[in-house]
Amino acid sequence: MNITTYLGFPRIGRRRELKTALENYWRDPGQAETLLAAAEELRRRHWQQAADLGIDCVPVNDFSLYDHVLDQAVLFDAIPARHREGFERDPLAGYFAMARGSADGPALEMTKWFDTNYHYLVPELQAGQDFRLRGDKPLAEWRDARAAGHQARPVLLGPVSFLKLSKCTDGSNPLDLLPRLLPVYLEWLAQLAEAGVEWVQLDEPLLVTDLDPALALAYRQAYETLARGPSPRLLVATYFGGCDPELAASLPVDGIHLDLVRGPQQLATLLQTLPRDRVLSAGIIDGRGIWRSQPERVQALLHELHEWRQAGRLWLAPSCSLLHLPYDVEQERQLAAGLKPWLAFARQKLQELRHYADWLAGDAAAEQALRAQAEVLARRPQATGVQRRQVRTRVAALSPQAALRRSDVTHRRAVQAEALALPSLPTTTIGSFPQTAALRRARSGHRRGQLDDLGYQALLRDEVARVIRFQEDIGLDVLVHGEPERNDMVEYFGEQLEGFAFTRHGWVQSYGSRCVKPPIIWGDIARPRPMTVAWATYAQSLTSRPVKGMLTGPVTLLQWSFVRDDLTRAEICLQLALALRDEVHDLEKAGIGVIQIDEPALREGLPLRACEHAAYLDWAVHAFKVAAGGSQDRTQIHTHMCYSEFNEIMPAVAALDADVISIESSRSRMELLEAFQAFDYPAAIGPGVYDIHSPRVPSGEEMLELLQRALRVLRPEQLWVNPDCGLKTRDWDQVEPALRHMVDAARQLRATL
Ligand code: GLN
Ligand code: ZN
Repeated sequence: MNITTYLGFPRIGRRRELKTALENYWRDPGQAETLLAAAEELRRRHWQQAADLGIDCVPVNDFSLYDHVLDQAVLFDAIPARHREGFERDPLAGYFAMARGSADGPALEMTKWFDTNYHYLVPELQAGQDFRLRGDKPLAEWRDARAAGHQARPVLLGPVSFLKLSKCTDGSNPLDLLPRLLPVYLEWLAQLAEAGVEWVQLDEPLLVTDLDPALALAYRQAYETLARGPSPRLLVATYFGGCDPELAASLPVDGIHLDLVRGPQQLATLLQTLPRDRVLSAGIIDGRGIWRSQPERVQALLHELHEWRQAGRLWLAPSCSLLHLPYDVEQERQLAAGLKPWLAFARQKLQELRHYADWLAGDAAAEQALRAQAEVLARRPQATGVQRRQVRTRVAALSPQAALRRSDVTHRRAVQAEALALPSLPTTTIGSFPQTAALRRARSGHRRGQLDDLGYQALLRDEVARVIRFQEDIGLDVLVHGEPERNDMVEYFGEQLEGFAFTRHGWVQSYGSRCVKPPIIWGDIARPRPMTVAWATYAQSLTSRPVKGMLTGPVTLLQWSFVRDDLTRAEICLQLALALRDEVHDLEKAGIGVIQIDEPALREGLPLRACEHAAYLDWAVHAFKVAAGGSQDRTQIHTHMCYSEFNEIMPAVAALDADVISIESSRSRMELLEAFQAFDYPAAIGPGVYDIHSPRVPSGEEMLELLQRALRVLRPEQLWVNPDCGLKTRDWDQVEPALRHMVDAARQLRATL
């Protein structure tokens, strides 16, 4: 009997029921019962669905009202002092206070979950931290699942990953807390054993990252300690890459889960070193990507695992939790018919597992289904739009020169100074202006057909005119059109490019109730017509000051989409770059002299392992340069990135060879500029002087002070003045005074130069 299972499931609900219930509760705390009932219903439904699809064992405690790492901090009583009282008073309200902030203080910091687009809350610990068990969420969910008739397995982060994902507010090393934390795990495991739990899944995704010797030692010590107590059987789950097979095999646990999609290379060693009495949970299909698996590939893999199968110690699972996938491709009624049979969302992944398990058992229907799947996929390369001859030829013929500007940055600076005639310390913004309620209403009305094209266009034109007038009025130097026509910086371009598809219900949790609906890149990328030229030229026609054209860069378009599995990311990125290159060219021809290519996702694309960074940065930088490379010397190319950790990627950022880069900087108080100075960054920099994430309106003095700090490390001719990021989430009554103060600050400083 081959066991089928999975590591975790999406929580938000196929109709985003959890989002609705959460937001109702946040508006009206009287809705607590409704929220908890909705959560319970979702858990039940998901287990039942899995069971109906033929899954043998379901995980529990993978569900969370907001975030599973926060749940675990609460389970261990790691509650920051500022939220303690509120939590004791009302645990549900206190939980959300930690997630979202409250009158008691700010939320926990939020950060990216490995290389996904999910964000977790970082537990706040300190040296000498006391952990204790609080509540029984995992066990209660296990009991619910059992009562509903399911084989179930509670999930928790393992001790080493939990500590490494936390931070100590006093600067001490969270790993030092291991001896204080392990007794709590032991107590928890003993409770579960007592209750009759057979298996527990401890997630240790840290095992697929670069481990220093201290961390490897921590792993051994932790699991040797856990092996000593009474406990259900332990499955250590690794995912998002290959782990160190020797370390993994040496842990004294009962089973190990491997991501064999992203880390196929670990298998050979593991098959030799893993003791034969262990369970091998094989992540045979991609838990992150939305494509159906290639039966030949998976079947070959399963052949390699025959020894475990014969011993009855093989589990079949997706490579990682399905949290990062949408629910069900069958919900997508309007998706091109040809596309659907290639796709597998969470539900289809579970179906696939069942097919493979049945195939192993010699089931003819499963064999048939997999053969049919292989045939459908074999025809995919010939389907219209998957491979476009022109695109392939162009990529293949691309010369290294295509990535180069005509002259170096110093020469370009002189040419641009003459062409643009900007004052010193030029002022600008990052692109978007407030997306007002009226704009959003108009957009949704237009989508639903209540507002016709003409009416919608007229409204947008009014908005652009208003934004241009406003910018002239307050005295900005390089203007923008304000992006009122864009719903989202990826979707807007994806909708105008061939090779992209969009789902209706393909929501994936980003954090809490926030979901994103990534587009799907399924075919070769082509740009049938200019995408932004009409808006840019319209805006430019309204003013004599330069208007900056606004593009989303190739790396960001790639990073925020689900991408095809039949081309490398590097190749897809290059196709996107060529489409953008044509757009840059068309903007130039239309008289747009300043063009910004946003790359807020460049850094987050960094692979988990350091040894893969250089290769990634190489192709990512190359793609950006191909997009910008065809432009004239007098065209000023800007780029924008919304973060401030540049040390590691500084050489790559410099290699982009942009004329101006704007970055987030107000919160770090210009500290990051040191990275630029240390690197002798040659081009111009606009370190944000205004934190657009906060509704607070900064004063002119504050911004002046930040600019003065910037001038301690930058040459005056290098410095631009701008906010940290786009203004779309702010209100006009915040933006107006803040930008006036910003322009004032620039003028004052200019007078002293
Ligand atoms: N141009 C975009 C804007 O202003 C940039 C957004 C971003 O950096 N995420 O909204
Ligand atoms: Zn930004």
